[in-house]
Amino acid sequence: MRVFVASLATETNTFSPLFVDRSAFEGAFYCPPGTHPETPTLCSGPMVAARRRARTDGFTLFEGTATWAEPAGLVSRAAYESLRDEILDQLRAAMPVDVVLFGLHGAMVARGYDDCEGDLLAHARAIAGPEAIVGAELDMHCHLTDQMVEAADVITAFKEFPHTDFLERAEDLVDLCLRAARREIAPVSAVFDCRAITGFMTSREPGRSFVDRMLALEGQDAILSISVAHGFQAADVHDVGTKVLVIADGAANHGKAAALAERLGREILSWGAGGGPYHFKPEEAIVQALAELGQPVVLADRWDNPGGGVAGDSTVMVEALLRHPEIPAAIGALWDPVAVSFCRAAGIGAEIDLRFGGKAAPTSGKPIDARVVVRGVTDDLLVPFEQSWVSLGPAAAVTIGNLDVVLASTRAQTFSPPVFTDLGVDLAAKKIVVVKSSNHFHAAFAQIAHKVHYLDTGGPYPSDTAKIPYTRARRPLSPLDPNPWL
Ligand SMILES: [Zn+2]
Repeated sequence: MRVFVASLATETNTFSPLFVDRSAFEGAFYCPPGTHPETPTLCSGPMVAARRRARTDGFTLFEGTATWAEPAGLVSRAAYESLRDEILDQLRAAMPVDVVLFGLHGAMVARGYDDCEGDLLAHARAIAGPEAIVGAELDMHCHLTDQMVEAADVITAFKEFPHTDFLERAEDLVDLCLRAARREIAPVSAVFDCRAITGFMTSREPGRSFVDRMLALEGQDAILSISVAHGFQAADVHDVGTKVLVIADGAANHGKAAALAERLGREILSWGAGGGPYHFKPEEAIVQALAELGQPVVLADRWDNPGGGVAGDSTVMVEALLRHPEIPAAIGALWDPVAVSFCRAAGIGAEIDLRFGGKAAPTSGKPIDARVVVRGVTDDLLVPFEQSWVSLGPAAAVTIGNLDVVLASTRAQTFSPPVFTDLGVDLAAKKIVVVKSSNHFHAAFAQIAHKVHYLDTGGPYPSDTAKIPYTRARRPLSPLDPNPWL
């Protein structure tokens, strides 16, 4: 048995003012063949899962490049084509192979390529041949396209949001592909297109028990795998929106897979907006936090989450907290490499006049000008996220009265409390902690938070789905149109 594995991933917010070239991949996470660490990253789980299975099963593993860029705007054509061709050349050199595995995201858009993953999978299929098993793991925030499903034998997507299961879903993928290559199973895919922009969190109901039921259905009654592609609304592409993928064993069970996909898709549609949390406006959130009896109350600035492709330098909540100087609070991490360099040069304990935040776009708010005390600095703010480590680069914490602000040089979301505590910010002493993250913060912050609430600060991520100016999305698509299934 000969198995090839590679990873190419980013999540593209086509409305973002930030652009991605090859250096964005090389600067974020770029591992040429054989150099991938033993720990997985969010989108390279198949690399680690395949290595482990190669040791126990004794097949020959050919590792290609694994690379990831922090979510942002459009990827340049040259960046996508050069990384794709690098991986395809590696695949050609490894031929003949029985299995081709990819760690992808599923929402990568480059200039000239609305469906990068479909394009990559189709090229890989052409090289590997019709008898090879081609599989991919996707982030659930993907655009599941016909081209992807047709080119691949097996696709698994993360089931959990926050994505606590990226390695488990990679293990599922590797296992199904190996079984298919041994002709123990014959995967057939069925997709139900919900024709809707939806999404749900699995850290709360109804998503939690829905995913538990999905997991229980797998392995029963010829159903091999179930994935919900939640979609990624910040992308103007044909396949934006939610789809359900069910993979069954054998062509005779395709109807069973299609029926199950439709049943699950209709259940998601039946929730309406009930799959997501309530979103507080800034002042409303502060009032709510003050009414809570314990602390800290964690407020998630969902729509300024670098993980969604925006800058993460919005000052809307900094301004709101500065209007309440009596409240012990912390906010982070704001992306501002220039301000970080000023703080590091000034040194810990220095009191300086600092301008920070609000630079990337009008929707980021205005820069803050304040006299700050530099509380902490670091060469590299490295924080845990599940089985992986994420770098926010050189970073600083500054204090303005009762407010501590963490500034970072590398765009990355606020995955876990060390974003603050590694810079000397005591979260237990804070009434309010604002994090730049949509929901990946939840698993780690829930352990220290008295309560968690979600914010709507007005952007810069396009949060109001009914008003997103799509030009390429297939229609009808709710909530822009009435949903055809309801
Ligand atoms: Zn995701």
